[in-house]
Amino acid sequence: MTFQRGNLERQVPNLPKEVKWCKRCVISNQRPRIFFNEEGICSGCQNTDYKNNDVDWDQREQELVQLLDKHRRNDGYWDVIVPSSGGKDSGFVAHQLRYKYGMNPLTVTWAPLAYTDIGWQNLQSNINTGFTNMLCTPNGRFQRKLARLCFEELGDAFHVFVMGQVSYPFHLAVKLGIPLVFYGENGEAEYAGDPNFADKPYKPSEEWVNQHFKGVTFRELLEYGLKNKDYLSEDDYAQSDLIFYEPPSVAELEKAGILGKHFFSYYHKWIPQENYYYCVENTAFKPNPMRTEGTYSKYASLDDKMDGFHYYLRYIKFGLGRCMEDATHEIRDGHLTREEGIALMKRYEGEFPQRYFKEFLEYLDITEEHFWDVVDSWRAEHLWHKVEGEWKLKYPVE
Ligand SMILES: [Zn+2]
Repeated sequence: MTFQRGNLERQVPNLPKEVKWCKRCVISNQRPRIFFNEEGICSGCQNTDYKNNDVDWDQREQELVQLLDKHRRNDGYWDVIVPSSGGKDSGFVAHQLRYKYGMNPLTVTWAPLAYTDIGWQNLQSNINTGFTNMLCTPNGRFQRKLARLCFEELGDAFHVFVMGQVSYPFHLAVKLGIPLVFYGENGEAEYAGDPNFADKPYKPSEEWVNQHFKGVTFRELLEYGLKNKDYLSEDDYAQSDLIFYEPPSVAELEKAGILGKHFFSYYHKWIPQENYYYCVENTAFKPNPMRTEGTYSKYASLDDKMDGFHYYLRYIKFGLGRCMEDATHEIRDGHLTREEGIALMKRYEGEFPQRYFKEFLEYLDITEEHFWDVVDSWRAEHLWHKVEGEWKLKYPVE
């Protein structure tokens, strides 16, 4: 039987039907909220030009110092929260805030679905460079059921992680009275998104549902899961298990003086490869001994055994996989030419994350056959066709 899903997903039906690739990097117009100018250049590349030519980074650093001075405490209490996986980007932000700018960060971690050894090691190394860390691991049984719901109905099991990663730090911010919350990069700027949100120091909570949660609130997801198929039942959770999957209300955030997610990338020119070198030197960060499946790199997004499926499903839904993610950034940062990027795409883009496939199936409690049924249900007709029995992208990058 072929898998049929409901209508929770709101990005795929709105994709442009004609695929266009950026003339300068290797991203297409299938990324939600991306914008192309008349010359066929994507909003990410336009943002790079802006960062290289128009932003006064010394001025931005002064703005950062002013902001930090406003929040800096002299009583020894934490004065900034840094949501941190222990990866190179959040590691860079926490370390800079503490050792360059003299802040006292509390790092907080929403656990991945299933830690890799290297991810766990990097988190510990990061903590050992001088941070108190709060790690929240959600109710595992409930999270697995939610992950299956998100995999099938949103095409992304990893969505459960995103909800907690965005929401949990703000519950702590409210409860502990630490109104400044610093993330690394602004995705709308760094990965090409809505230009209206690219050049902003922070993102207010009103935007999170659209820009982080695929247009679906946690409550909608929960209700859907209770009413449809056998996703969830009320016995699966207590009310307290739900708290960290959705942000505090706008009123609660306002009362606590919290503006939103602050981005370090607004104040400091964001170059992932440099964050990597910085963390190798300063936080004992270690890259993966093996290449990450689906791309050529060894240092990005290493901590979760399951996240390869996030990128794989994105490749199925939008024709944009994990190699694209690394290559576009490196092309924009001048570390790769577009031709080199395309060569890497031809080699690695869309590679199946075989290493943890069995664990992924076990995590979601589904069969392999069902997995492929769901995957195929996400193949848009304008993106995919079968050539000699094999699925191929109709318009790959060239
Ligand atoms: Zn581009």
